[in-house]
Amino acid sequence: MNVLKFGGTSVGSTNNINNVISILETYSKKQQVIAVVSAVGGITDKLLKAGELAQSKDEAYLNAFEEIKSIHLKLLSDLNPKLDQKIKNTLEDKLANLKSLLDGIFLINELSPKTSDKLVSFGELLSSYIIAESMKARGLDALRKNSQDLIVTNSNFTRAEVNYEITNTNIVGYFTEAKQQITILPGFISKSQSGEITTLGRGGSDFTAAIVAAALNVERLEIWTDVSGMFTANPKLVKQAYPIESLSYQEAMELSHFGAKVLYPPTVQPVLDLNIPIHIKNTLEPNAAGTKISADAVVKVSPVKGISNIDQIALLTLQGNGMVGIPGFSKRLFETLAQEKINVILITQASSEHSICIGIDQKEAIRAQQAIDLAFENEISLHKIDPIIVEIDLSIVALVGDQMKSHQGISGKMFSALGKNNINVRAIAQGASEKNISAVINNKDVKKALNALHEQFFEVKTKQLNVYITGIGNVGEKLIEQIEQQHSFLKKNLQIDLRIIGMSNSRKMIFNEKGIDLSNWASQFHYAEKSDLKGFLKRAVDFNLRNSIFVDITASEEVADMYAEYLKNSIAVVACNKIACADTYDRYKQLQDLSLKYNTPFLYETNVGAGLPIINTLKNLVASGDKVTSIQAVLSGSLNFIFNNFSDRKNFHDTVKQAQYEGYTEPDPRIDLSGIDVARKVLILARENRTNLNLEDIENESFLTEANRNSKSIDDFYETLIEDEAHFQNLYASAKAKNCRLKYVAEFNKGKAKVGLKEIPEGHPFYSLEGKDNIVMFYTARYPEQPLIIKGAGAGADVTASGLFADIIKIGNK
Ligand code: ADP
Ligand code: ASP
Ligand code: MG
Repeated sequence: MNVLKFGGTSVGSTNNINNVISILETYSKKQQVIAVVSAVGGITDKLLKAGELAQSKDEAYLNAFEEIKSIHLKLLSDLNPKLDQKIKNTLEDKLANLKSLLDGIFLINELSPKTSDKLVSFGELLSSYIIAESMKARGLDALRKNSQDLIVTNSNFTRAEVNYEITNTNIVGYFTEAKQQITILPGFISKSQSGEITTLGRGGSDFTAAIVAAALNVERLEIWTDVSGMFTANPKLVKQAYPIESLSYQEAMELSHFGAKVLYPPTVQPVLDLNIPIHIKNTLEPNAAGTKISADAVVKVSPVKGISNIDQIALLTLQGNGMVGIPGFSKRLFETLAQEKINVILITQASSEHSICIGIDQKEAIRAQQAIDLAFENEISLHKIDPIIVEIDLSIVALVGDQMKSHQGISGKMFSALGKNNINVRAIAQGASEKNISAVINNKDVKKALNALHEQFFEVKTKQLNVYITGIGNVGEKLIEQIEQQHSFLKKNLQIDLRIIGMSNSRKMIFNEKGIDLSNWASQFHYAEKSDLKGFLKRAVDFNLRNSIFVDITASEEVADMYAEYLKNSIAVVACNKIACADTYDRYKQLQDLSLKYNTPFLYETNVGAGLPIINTLKNLVASGDKVTSIQAVLSGSLNFIFNNFSDRKNFHDTVKQAQYEGYTEPDPRIDLSGIDVARKVLILARENRTNLNLEDIENESFLTEANRNSKSIDDFYETLIEDEAHFQNLYASAKAKNCRLKYVAEFNKGKAKVGLKEIPEGHPFYSLEGKDNIVMFYTARYPEQPLIIKGAGAGADVTASGLFADIIKIGNK
């Protein structure tokens, strides 16, 4: 004898029922088979909804009924093209009974647990009828038996307890006599000793199958569902989850108890005692291996077998000084909950005994609160304890595995993965058996937590980085191009899965939670929504993906103003925009502090020297204890380009125009020529060297004329350059006479910084600096005479993009 259970999806469509029939046909060729079936997928919920509408005098219950009716009639006729009218009539009669029940609920506007059980029992009664008749119509030796005649319970409606003695006798008695090859049993439903309809709790069809399997002591129990086994985490929430080959009974119980809905928790108990293995199989993919649950589970290398979650948890905290050292408080607390039939899912108590914290189903929170406050009324009025504190909208995520106890560091890894992703842990519980470590977190963080933990324990190899880019100009385009080009290299060699989730420019923004397709991202902008900075942040926060990184490729003050919010939401910031770091020292410091506090990187290597590793080198010098005594640098690609091209044969105005045309200057060339841009860069270097400076502290000896400096617009500025050509020619001639070249130099020395144009003699490392190159010389305690020199292209879209890319990868390697 074989016992197979088919769930809601398995019996939820014509196609799937045909699959079920063919599986049963194959099995029945070898031996007798019992098929326990659920209600058609979603029907139990629809029945309850119809009942609630009727109870609240809402005539919409009639529509809800019509929907239920048409789903069943359609299934019957689709499965049986040559339908026997008698069978259709019988189904219609059953549906008419359902309608009468709903009408009754509407009339008296009451839906007691007893009536509710009667109502939901229609789900399994209807599905089992349709399936059995469809099998008979195909000539199979099938018969439906009402499991209410077999499974006997107490009168604990909606979650009745089984009387095994009577039930087992009934089942053995019936099946010893049964002649049919295939028996269809409705799952979930039962009867009390006094004959009232009861149910075994939501998801209870699994349990029905286990009860039957145990009563008949069959070789194995098969649970056929819509996924290929019990997965490492809920596959609907974790894309990378995969089926677990083998589990012990205890592991399966822990996972199901902590939310792996694929198996109803009580299912394991009846078969465990008899050592009957459970196989979880997929009706939609019958050849997939599935999961085997048994006493001799294969011990895998990883001690963590699965991660599960239960949502809608309420946390109740009983606390007060009057509890310390006085026995009996917890006993009374749990007795109160037991009397109310409230199931406790999780318990924690600090050793100070000052508080006890318990997790329960949120639906029961108010009832629990009232009962507990009443039970401790006296102590509360005497201020020995506080009224119970109730927190809602929480979830439990749990790691499960028999072997966790013999491995150190699992909880450390668990909480560091949660912490790194800014997931606040409200309570922790770990059974002494160490088969389970549970953390209570906010509902909204569940998906992120499951994915972060899954990555930590099951995909150690790949780390997903989720990037949001603002500012899609030359540099942005290059960065996207580089990311697309390197995607598979990073995955293969650095185990980084780099995805761009959001992109925006000043007009539009696009998103894709699964990663934007980079082969045609530009065309997606045509239909994109209007962009706004707060909206962009909100989307990144709402997606709540692990390892999120915001990349700022603008020169915008408003974008820089958003960094603090990103960091506070544990979204790392990578910026080539230097406004934030070059603003007041307090603002710079605030961002550094937030980065530390939220353990979220804030990187801006490209603020100085584009892709050159200047800031990183300086950080390393400081971190390793070296003392930077002086920094000498040429940090402006644009000014370098201008002074390398300007001569007595080419006027200054045209040289600046050319630099702007070729993209080497800021949109407003005055920012470069006034020295502000270089001053900001040396300011950032000074700050990285732990010096508290502000922009106004930097000495800036301008080489521009007063007329240049006072120009009102960019055009006006260019006019003054023509008028003052003689001034620039003088600067050139003076340098030439001394055999020097003009370079715009930034210096940091003994805590002071300055920028200005200098005449550099031949032989000096700055003298032969070409094109748009930058150079930085660090003189330090360890490099006292021969400085540490970094030199190379310090401007340009390609190198800036690669500098941003390097910062992103650095976060990935963290
Ligand atoms: P059935 O109707 O067949 O009883 P259920 O909906 O009760 O099916 O259970 C199967 C569902 O359980 C899956 O579709 C999946 O969404 C959910 N689930 C949650 N956690 C897990 C897990 N760890 N492994 C597999 N499925 C899970
Ligand atoms: N139909 C019931 C439910 O949805 C029982 C089951 O499917 O296992 O809860
Ligand atoms: Mg189920």
